[in-house]
Amino acid sequence: MALITKAIRGTQDVLPAESYKWQHVEQTALAIARDYGFREMRAPVFEHTELFQRSVGETTDVVQKEMYTFNDKGGRSITLRPEGTAGMARVLLEHGLQNEPLPVKVSYITSCYRYEKPQAGRLREFHQFGVECFGAAAPQADAEVIALARTILNELGVTGVALHINSIGCPECRAKYHAALKAYFEGRKDDLCETCRGRLDRNPMRILDCKSPVCSEIAAGAPVMLDYLCDDCRAHFDTVKACLSEAEIEYEIDTRIVRGLDYYTRTVFEFVSDALGAQSTVCGGGRYDGLIDELGGPHLPSLGFGMGLERLMLILEAKGAQFPTPPRCEVYLVSMGDKAAQRCFAIATRLRDGGVSVECDTVGRSLKAQMKYADKIGARYTIVVGDNELESGLAQLKNMETGETDEIALDDSLYTTLYTKSLDRQLADMTDLFGAVAE
Ligand code: ATP
Ligand code: MG
Repeated sequence: MALITKAIRGTQDVLPAESYKWQHVEQTALAIARDYGFREMRAPVFEHTELFQRSVGETTDVVQKEMYTFNDKGGRSITLRPEGTAGMARVLLEHGLQNEPLPVKVSYITSCYRYEKPQAGRLREFHQFGVECFGAAAPQADAEVIALARTILNELGVTGVALHINSIGCPECRAKYHAALKAYFEGRKDDLCETCRGRLDRNPMRILDCKSPVCSEIAAGAPVMLDYLCDDCRAHFDTVKACLSEAEIEYEIDTRIVRGLDYYTRTVFEFVSDALGAQSTVCGGGRYDGLIDELGGPHLPSLGFGMGLERLMLILEAKGAQFPTPPRCEVYLVSMGDKAAQRCFAIATRLRDGGVSVECDTVGRSLKAQMKYADKIGARYTIVVGDNELESGLAQLKNMETGETDEIALDDSLYTTLYTKSLDRQLADMTDLFGAVAE
């Protein structure tokens, strides 16, 4: 076999044997978000490049180095979304959702594209679960969004994750801080990486986010934003902390968090795992009170987070977290001969219409091979149908686990029997699930 090509570097395939884990994670996140009042919103995978330049920010790594940008055949500059928020904000404004009762709370699952050096937990195509809460200025909104991320991680069985929070203030108090930072970094200018030297004038805070070892070491001694917060930003941050404490949500203050995107203001936070090595942040978010104005909309204080699903998966695997087992095939219809195969297909179709998981032969296997296959896919029951069964209208329903058999008529009663078995099974699974939740 000589394949003409392979997957693009930094992308990851999800195989059928693994996809149920992804479905579990995505459905759990969306369902919990729904309980918190967030409804799913979807946006295209690409947008006009200026959307990201403007919202993510010209001085960020994402815009400077990581975007997949190209000209389409009409000559427009197009970018594959590097993150979810900008697209959500664009959809909000384009459809005037900000005129609905506020806040507008949305959730999403998206693929994101960044030209980064691929390594464990760092891909060129990755996926995020995210939420945005548009039009909520109160510190309670910050606590709510943080609590949501925490509930999702807890519900999925993620352990060893710490919540780090910080405040990066508003443009007013940040101006003073920028001046102090600039003065500090000027002193070490020659040691900074080239990119950071360029940032010194335009956005010295970005240097705090640089991944180069030398810059990180210099950044460790830099002044911290918390010492420069204005009264309003300080009061906001104090209330966020008080809300978290009263709800018994543990957090650490981490003055090094500045977040990689320019639009953040005030509260920023990360959930950091002890299982991920260098790529330790599984969820990052914060408040972006100026973003909507920046995009040409009204002043609409807002906030959100993005959770990296590949990193989340790595943690779940590392911690041996349990995933609910995917539903198994209820009945395998074993057929002998063309007439029986046709009859089996008709029975299967009617059972499937009734919501029963059924399989029958589609590759022309022998009786023995079909039985073996039914066993392999974990079918709970088999029914063998051949000329004899067609003639008598009776067949054997075999319980594959116990080996017990029951006679079953190939008439309407068959559907009632199997619908009931399938429903009983689903009920038992649900009882198990609730039992596990109640424990
Ligand atoms: P990092 O500091 O690790 O580069 P970031 O600050 O660039 O992360 P965000 O833009 O805040 O990340 O994205 C939110 C989340 O998306 C991250 O916390 C992470 O879990 C995930 N993420 C970001 N970049 C990647 C990537 N290249 N591959 C896989 N997951 C990623
Ligand atoms: Mg990054």
